[in-house]
Amino acid sequence: MSNNLNKKRIVILGAGESGAGAAVLAKDKGFDVFVSDFGAIADKYKNLLNSENIEWEEGGHTMDRILMADEVIKSPGIADTTPVMQKVLSKNIPVISEIEFAGRYTDAKMICITGSNGKTTTTLLTYHILSRAGIDVGLAGNVGKSLALQVARQPHQYYVIELSSFQLDNMYDFKANIAVILNITPDHLDRYDYKMQNYVNAKFRILQNMTPADAFIYWKDDPVVSAQLKHIKTEATLYPFTANDESECAAYVDAENELIIKTPATSLSMPRADLALNGIHNLYNSMAAGLSACLLNIRKDAIRSALSDFTGVEHRLEAAGTVDGVEWINDSKATNVNSCWYALDSMTKPTVLILGGKDKGNDYSEILPLVKEKVKAIVAMGKDNSKILDFFKDTVDVISDTHSLSDAVEECRRLAKSGDVVLLSPCCASFDLFKSYEDRGRQFKDAVNNLSTQK
Ligand code: ADP
Repeated sequence: MSNNLNKKRIVILGAGESGAGAAVLAKDKGFDVFVSDFGAIADKYKNLLNSENIEWEEGGHTMDRILMADEVIKSPGIADTTPVMQKVLSKNIPVISEIEFAGRYTDAKMICITGSNGKTTTTLLTYHILSRAGIDVGLAGNVGKSLALQVARQPHQYYVIELSSFQLDNMYDFKANIAVILNITPDHLDRYDYKMQNYVNAKFRILQNMTPADAFIYWKDDPVVSAQLKHIKTEATLYPFTANDESECAAYVDAENELIIKTPATSLSMPRADLALNGIHNLYNSMAAGLSACLLNIRKDAIRSALSDFTGVEHRLEAAGTVDGVEWINDSKATNVNSCWYALDSMTKPTVLILGGKDKGNDYSEILPLVKEKVKAIVAMGKDNSKILDFFKDTVDVISDTHSLSDAVEECRRLAKSGDVVLLSPCCASFDLFKSYEDRGRQFKDAVNNLSTQK
């Protein structure tokens, strides 16, 4: 119970990276803070909370105490349909996200990135450009670093923030200086009453409170984004990008295959071939990051060199090694069909494709044309592969049914010949056979590594 009845009471639901960080900032700012987690709290966060004398509970929620809150800061992982949130909402207690809370205590410039796919890559690439240019910049949000903790303990002048729709759901007064929407395709609809429009509205909250001095960067050719733009009003200045030769866009590729980026203050060009990241999806990600950097007046040579020496992100089209002339690629983060489409689109060699895992209601027809064109064999890897086997049986000559990583890798080794590529881009979540997509990707890389050392 609060020992100072005049203090404003903040309850934090969920003690992960964002919740623990929010608790530290709230305590610093003099609030009465209580942290409650329905599950177990990781030792790292327990230690942090204890060292700051912040009260917490795990393994359940003490509702009486929670409902005394003046404001609740909710972890993005907790849905409004959970019993605890139902009670909080029925009491009309204001609920905000950690990013909203942290935004109240900093004047830093905010570069915020959302989209259904490509968020982490673009966030890390933007951060790479800014930090290489010597800017005082922090990395925050969904990439796994708390904004609130940095604002409290390690403040920066700029932040590059990856925002999920769940964080955006509980943001109201926060303002981005630069907002990026990479693309919008159906995802997480279970949290949006299965209504695509609700999910689109959540993504567009990134534009809230923006003024003409702020920039909205978006993919011009995304049908969902352009349809929504017709329905909403934003004061932000628009910076669309496209892969086509359209000089009216802020970033595009011209007939000579030069990437052009234009802002009111500057213009930059570089050969598309010099970009570190391959694939059309990464062209988009590079454009969004490059545009953000140009708008922040970063030196052009610094932008060019950072766009061309970025080493990529683990589990996203990551080179896992070459064995006997066969290239192995780890794209374990491709947990939906759309990201596998982009992976396949960037393949230039005959491909043995590892698909499968926990299906989230996938419709594989999106990748069918690319599978026909590029895939010589599919190795299904999951507890139950029947949907994949059935869907592709008339498309691909060779389909193998495997139920473990070691069997899948063995099968790929048998099927792939020198000059081929083996691509793990499974379209599915990993939880049937692995702890997470990271676990799946690491086990895959270890297995490839073993193949090369066995020789
Ligand atoms: P997110 O953080 O949004 O999940 P990531 O950067 O982790 O996105 O990339 C996840 C997967 O999505 C990658 O493995 C890649 O196949 C695909 N992808 C990356 N960028 C894009 C993009 N701009 N458009 C579509 N798909 C993309």
